[in-house]
Amino acid sequence: MRHLTKIFLLLTLVLMSFMSIASAKNSDPNELEYIKAYQTREGGREFLRIEIGFKGEELEYDIKLASSISQLMTVDLKHTIPAKVGRRGGSNIDFEEPVENITLKEFELGSCRLQINFDKTIDDRSYRARVEKANKSQKLPTRLLIDIDNYVFIDETIELDIGSGAIVIDPGHGGSDAGAVGPTGVREKDVSLAVALKLREYLEEQGDPVVMTRTTDVDVYSPQATNAQELQARVNKAPRDAALFISIHCNAFSNPSSHGMETYYYTDSGRGRRLAKLINEELEKYGGLFNRGVKPANFYVLKHTSMPSTLLELGFVTNPEEEQLLADEGYQDSLARAIVTGINRYFGRTTD
Ligand SMILES: [Zn+2]
Repeated sequence: MRHLTKIFLLLTLVLMSFMSIASAKNSDPNELEYIKAYQTREGGREFLRIEIGFKGEELEYDIKLASSISQLMTVDLKHTIPAKVGRRGGSNIDFEEPVENITLKEFELGSCRLQINFDKTIDDRSYRARVEKANKSQKLPTRLLIDIDNYVFIDETIELDIGSGAIVIDPGHGGSDAGAVGPTGVREKDVSLAVALKLREYLEEQGDPVVMTRTTDVDVYSPQATNAQELQARVNKAPRDAALFISIHCNAFSNPSSHGMETYYYTDSGRGRRLAKLINEELEKYGGLFNRGVKPANFYVLKHTSMPSTLLELGFVTNPEEEQLLADEGYQDSLARAIVTGINRYFGRTTD
């Protein structure tokens, strides 16, 4: 009898602890309805959306992108059962490139693990995830949405491009056009050329062919040229099979307190965006200026080049502190190293 009481007590305790877990979670488990991965477009960006529809209201989830050479994303869905998707993850799963396959496992009682394999490697861990409420009029259940920009995926053909095409470096302005001029007279055309020459040196050191739009203080077309003529002359310097086009500039504004660095890509170019993003991250790391972001633009040299391109605004030459930094040789050197690192990451070369 004593024995039975003990067992009974134990059972009660076990049951109580189960109940407390259940009540902490406060409901039946979520039930998966479908999983989809598809290409979509929103606000000018193209991305892969992974959409996980489920019956339930709240979802605790955990997303892991494995390291930069991986092709795998793991998504843990707590307090969720496979339901309509099936324990073996066989039904109601649809996907398209760059997803290669999606598997689902109930990895512990009442929790699901989704493994998403891509046919490209992931070079960047940025993604956006959110839970959207059910929408009855559109017959949509509650959904977990995971959005990954396309530039995050490295296309194998990019790697094959290494060495076959030159990297074009375009030091902004030059000759009759000084570009922006700082309060103590530092000229944009000199900063852009100094950084460009160092960049050429480091790229050539590692064996990359480089083409410069200018190597001295000159107009590329002519001192009397129109803006379009001058910029087209720079575009024309790029061989047709060039791998990348990198235009180097400094920013300027009437208010001397404006400061920071930013990088640009041509609005429609996924690869350009990726290049601009990766160089931006390195400029922030090496240069330490305020990061104004990665931005789309229709700048002439971005629009009229056929290879992935980016335009870098290294800092504000009109800001007294940044003017001094931009004129400093050691600082120019770290900016050049930042750009090389960004380019290497773009090509999927490991740098660490
Ligand atoms: Zn400029």
